Amino acid sequence: MRLLLVEDDAMIGEGVRKGLRQEGFAVDWVQDGRAAELALDNEAYDLLLLDLGLPKKDGLEVLAGLRRKGNAIPVLILTARDAISERVKGLDAGADDYLIKPFDLDELAARVRALLRRKAGRADPIIQVGSLVINPATHEVSLDGQPIALSAREFALLRALAERPGVVLSRTQLEEKLYGWGEEVESNTVEVYVHSLRRKLGTDFIRNVRGVGYMVAKRP
Ligand code: CA
Repeated sequence: MRLLLVEDDAMIGEGVRKGLRQEGFAVDWVQDGRAAELALDNEAYDLLLLDLGLPKKDGLEVLAGLRRKGNAIPVLILTARDAISERVKGLDAGADDYLIKPFDLDELAARVRALLRRKAGRADPIIQVGSLVINPATHEVSLDGQPIALSAREFALLRALAERPGVVLSRTQLEEKLYGWGEEVESNTVEVYVHSLRRKLGTDFIRNVRGVGYMVAKRP
């Protein structure tokens, strides 16, 4: 899952990026409202973490512009503004949730998971495809009741595919979900992770759709 973090406070920005990367998210970080708009126009993000008091363009304006353009990305506001009226304005401008600074990183990660779940149309926090069970909160994976040990990238790739069974994701789309800016992407990295996932889950679980990409087939 690829997230965009918009935060001009360097300490909070560093802390949030590090914390969410440890949770297995790819995180890009920009520090003003205009850079946020540029990034949103050029990359496909799964979720936006948005500070309100920002240089160049206010967070509320960024949010309003986004919704005007019909962009439905889940938005979580991070704000030091504790006035109720600011929170109301943010929600009414199209935000899905908010956290007041200072916040706890575990709570932030849980809210991010909740918004991503809702975006995927799930109420159940557990992702299940046939006998494969994925817990996004604990990163535990099991197949036929047997626990499967996965690396952080293997987990991220499997999660991206299993969240939308029957949908083909291209190599580029998968790379974008695995890596944020400044993280070196090795060539054929997706193939390498698919190969090791097949070794652990069986060869027919992740299908290669020739010339298009990869998918996890729907199961009864
Ligand atoms: Ca700020």
